[in-house]
Amino acid sequence: MSAKILDGAALSRAILDELGEEVAALRAAHGTVPGLATILVGEDPASVSYVTRKVATAHALGFHEVQETLPATAHEAELLACIERHNADPRIHGILVQLPLPRHMEERTIIHAIAPEKDVDGFHPVNLGKLLMGDATAFLPCTPAGIREMLMRAGVRLDGAEVVIVGRSNIVGKPLAVLLGQKGPGGNATVTLTHTGTRDLAAHCRRADVLVAAAGVPGLVRSEWIKPGAVVIDVGVNRVGFNEKTGKPILSGDVEFAAAAEVAGMITPVPGGVGPMTIAMLMKNTVRSARQHPAA
Ligand code: NAP
Repeated sequence: MSAKILDGAALSRAILDELGEEVAALRAAHGTVPGLATILVGEDPASVSYVTRKVATAHALGFHEVQETLPATAHEAELLACIERHNADPRIHGILVQLPLPRHMEERTIIHAIAPEKDVDGFHPVNLGKLLMGDATAFLPCTPAGIREMLMRAGVRLDGAEVVIVGRSNIVGKPLAVLLGQKGPGGNATVTLTHTGTRDLAAHCRRADVLVAAAGVPGLVRSEWIKPGAVVIDVGVNRVGFNEKTGKPILSGDVEFAAAAEVAGMITPVPGGVGPMTIAMLMKNTVRSARQHPAA
């Protein structure tokens, strides 16, 4: 293997250590404890696992953590009432509703109901709008923010780089394209956003200095599509089997990892790459929200 592995788990531990110091300083200076409400609807195994990790990280940082679990059959009105309660609670600085939601609920209605100043996932239109306008007060969506943080901490030059993103979802591809294309440090890249309508995806990928795969299709990005020495960020988390011995799902990214690692300069593993960075950014947003409301 020639590529350097971008170890998201180690990087996120470093960020969480820094945040731990900030949490202690906030408590000492203002008596403020960052408060995070995590809301899970139903029992989708992937969602349960994500929420469990977020709650454990919040506890480890000494947050005031409130976990709400609603049955999959809950009415949308119950979820809205739960969000409203946390919007009004001064001890809560961040609200996270784990997606996806059951089909009978309108995701947009739920995201709109979260107070923008507590939207630590960065999915509310106010925060996405601020991101688009380059307003530094935006809560950035956690996965794109985590990817940028990872690239910056790894010393990857983004200024003038050709970045190709595969996937244009509202939570990963689109906001990441805006973030990396923004003028200023950690931006200034020339970004191409690709999707299922893209003609000749391989040709776009081959141009990339930084290639981000966020399609949710295991092994979509082939090693032949990677420019030698490129930085490859694999966002995909695909359950491709089940390990009877560990009782855990077998995960795979969107990139053909082993062969890609022979060509790339740097590459993220799955798991242990982008995932832990996403959680670290959620914590960072919550601490920032608490800092902005120190009296609570
Ligand atoms: P999504 O909403 O399903 O969007 C997938 C995007 O990929 C769409 O824009 C789609 O294009 C595009 N796409 C799908 N197949 C393609 C193909 N064959 N060629 C080109 N483009 C293709 O997905 P998402 O929510 O962004 O998630 C993507 C993956 O990242 C999933 O595996 C998810 O589990 C993972 N994820 C990981 C984290 C983390 O923290 N590690 C966070 C979020 C998501 P169209 O728009 O044309 O349909």
